[in-house]
Amino acid sequence: MVNFKNSADGTVEQALVSKGVTDKNVLYALRIVPREKFVEEPLKELSYTGAPLPIGHNQTISGIYTVALMTQSLCLNKSHKILEIGTGSGYQAAILSTLCTSVFTIERIRDLSLKARDILGKLNIHNVTFIIGDGTIGFKEYAPYDRIIVTACSPDVPEALFAQLSEGGIMVIPLEMSGSQNIFVIEKKNGKMYSNNIAPANFVRLIGKNGFKS
Ligand code: SAM
Repeated sequence: MVNFKNSADGTVEQALVSKGVTDKNVLYALRIVPREKFVEEPLKELSYTGAPLPIGHNQTISGIYTVALMTQSLCLNKSHKILEIGTGSGYQAAILSTLCTSVFTIERIRDLSLKARDILGKLNIHNVTFIIGDGTIGFKEYAPYDRIIVTACSPDVPEALFAQLSEGGIMVIPLEMSGSQNIFVIEKKNGKMYSNNIAPANFVRLIGKNGFKS
């Protein structure tokens, strides 16, 4: 596991680069979004460690390397409209907000969504729309999305989410198969799904109509 001392001394960035995170825009986003604001008071010192940290309600903020890798794998540009499933602390949404025009983020636990909305407001981030509900059915109202990122582990790619992905779009999603989790990059080409397993993962479960039942 990578241990990052703090965000200011360059240790974080060097460790990420050595693990293959080289996209300059992603590294910039990680530099300017203060991760410690999304971490509970007693754990702030651990903000830049590689591990997921508890955020209440038995949920976690993903480790910084996981956030960096998944964000880089989305191959974002400024014009993209993104759907995130699993707002959690709001940190991933804040990172995405600096890299593209609009972000829609869905969280099933009301308290987490409200808290994340409050933190992003204080950071002056205004291009994120917060939705409370079951992200496994997506959010048709603003579909299609150029990119979709799922930050909880699913038993398979929810059909509704693939349907709401633009042609040529990319979805990054952790999937659990035979008891182990891996992050997959899914591409939609001529309506067909192409998938690539990029890394092992350690996520909480995606719970909902098209996810796990508990
Ligand atoms: N992206 C988050 C962050 O930056 O802190 C980390 C997400 S946490 C690992 C996974 C989140 O997914 C949890 O907050 C959990 O409540 C949420 N979740 C699980 N199933 C969901 C569903 N069906 N719809 C929306 N959110 C869901």
